[in-house]
Amino acid sequence: MSNKPQMQTLAGLATARGYAIGPAFIYRGNAAVPVPEYCVEVGCESEEMLRFRRALNEVKRDLEGLIAALRERTGREDVMVFECHLMMVDDPSLIDSVESAITEDRLNAAAAVRRTADRARAQFARMNDAYFRERVRDVDDVERRLLLALDGGAPEPYVEIKSPCILVADDLTPSQAVQLPREFVLGFVTEGGSTTSHVALLARALGIPAVSGLKDITSIVQAGDTILLDGTNGAVTVNADVSTVLDFRDLIERQKELSEEAVLGAPAGTLKEGGEVPLYANVHPGVPIGGLRELGARGIGLYRSEYLWLNRELEPTEEEQFQAYRDAAVFAKSLGEDATLTLRVLDIGGDKTVAGITQHETNPFLGNRSIRYLLSHRETFETQLRAALRASVFGKICIMYPMISCEEELVESAKVLEKAKSDLEAAGIPFDREIPVGAMIEVPAAALNAAALAKHVNFFSIGTNDLVQYTLAADRGNDAVTHLYQPLHPAILKLMRMTVDAARANGIYVGVCGESAADPVIGVLWAAMGVDILSMSATYIPVMSKLFSRLTRNDLDEYARFAESLDVSMGAADRLSACRGWLISKIPDLDNIIV
Ligand code: PEP
Ligand code: MG
Repeated sequence: MSNKPQMQTLAGLATARGYAIGPAFIYRGNAAVPVPEYCVEVGCESEEMLRFRRALNEVKRDLEGLIAALRERTGREDVMVFECHLMMVDDPSLIDSVESAITEDRLNAAAAVRRTADRARAQFARMNDAYFRERVRDVDDVERRLLLALDGGAPEPYVEIKSPCILVADDLTPSQAVQLPREFVLGFVTEGGSTTSHVALLARALGIPAVSGLKDITSIVQAGDTILLDGTNGAVTVNADVSTVLDFRDLIERQKELSEEAVLGAPAGTLKEGGEVPLYANVHPGVPIGGLRELGARGIGLYRSEYLWLNRELEPTEEEQFQAYRDAAVFAKSLGEDATLTLRVLDIGGDKTVAGITQHETNPFLGNRSIRYLLSHRETFETQLRAALRASVFGKICIMYPMISCEEELVESAKVLEKAKSDLEAAGIPFDREIPVGAMIEVPAAALNAAALAKHVNFFSIGTNDLVQYTLAADRGNDAVTHLYQPLHPAILKLMRMTVDAARANGIYVGVCGESAADPVIGVLWAAMGVDILSMSATYIPVMSKLFSRLTRNDLDEYARFAESLDVSMGAADRLSACRGWLISKIPDLDNIIV
């Protein structure tokens, strides 16, 4: 018997799309920094305060230096992670909390920092939304910097990598991730993390494939082991045999070719014949958007403004919002003279809770969320609309209302928008008077009543993430009901059809900005049914673009007829495989394209 270790494929979370092969570089660096805890002697509190203030200033200087260096080096927006850390160290409530632990409880500065960080971590961990829970990592990062600065200014532990490798880590802080030498890091594999962690978002933005949630991977893998990392499907293979390695290398080559074609080819979403289905990107403020142009995004189809409300005690001011919207509008313009920024107004509630704003509700998905929240908090709504209007002279902005369920919400929103416009007019501030407004169609009632809603707006954007969950009564985040969460369910197809027809009849355009837009079988079907724009995570644009380049408008018409005439009694799996079969009949090498 051979002693050769067995090939092993481990399944984790598909965190950032793409493939990589290389030797493992193991990093176990995130064990908490040990913190001594003791009472400072009476009378020595001010000395301890001074140590804390010095450490705080040092961390501020380091962060400012890091932000400036990153801007200079990469010009990328991933500095936002550190701007967020800078905001944390400037946060008066954080400073107060540490200082009162020192002066009132006579705690040493390091223990006071840890106590404050523990409280912040507990606060974030209680939140329902995965994105907000992940902000615990930012608290860890800032805490670590402060503790190291208090400990005599030891530098942030740096992962020193000098040759190409796949980094296999227990976890990575955003600081560590962004400082890694990009030319050498072929991929990330982490034990912790999630698909919404900052590191995941950085990896996606940087185009570095990543798999997370692989418990114990740093013990299973040894330094130097060859790792096959599949960020598209969330798998890691170790001790692969020769033929698996060769197949994997082919896959990497194909993916490379596809990305190059996407950059060099026609605008994303151009059909082989008969027009185009422009492909836009979904973005979150605070998350890098630098790579969108390279991936072919032709505009921003969904700007999730609620992410500006993250990590803070107070709501963002009009000025802060204005600056963020202006920067995004300018960026959108850089994608093309006519490229638009579709700015969705605050969509909180449901699974997106914000401390101090959202109330506890027994059934939050059906509660006072999104547009309902805004209409019951007019000041917040008006402020946001004023900021968006002010930014509208820097690039083309469309305003989008989430969770619309009835006409009255559009009528009321129009009044708030009118009020924001007249405030600006009175103050002599310029803005786009004709700013387009749109309704998200993500509640079944909105789709059923789309013809009436269309009269009030310039466009629809179908949020299939919510439309599917509300129509099929299947929580989009609950594993136990994923088998019921079926975008191709006949009921969904009917609602899509009604929405597209209502848009057509009223001369407005209709997009899809739910995740299904990036699914080859489903996204192509939405286009076939008459959707004008598909908006998705930018990394998924090259594959979708390639598919459209292989189809004609006639093919799409045929696909819509095929899918919409499938027997309603057909099960979900059969329906999906029939649609996939149709697509393969037109694109026989479909599996080679979806890499
Ligand atoms: C949707 O519901 O499809 C959507 C795009 O909005 P979100 O995922 O932010 O709820
Ligand atoms: Mg939604």
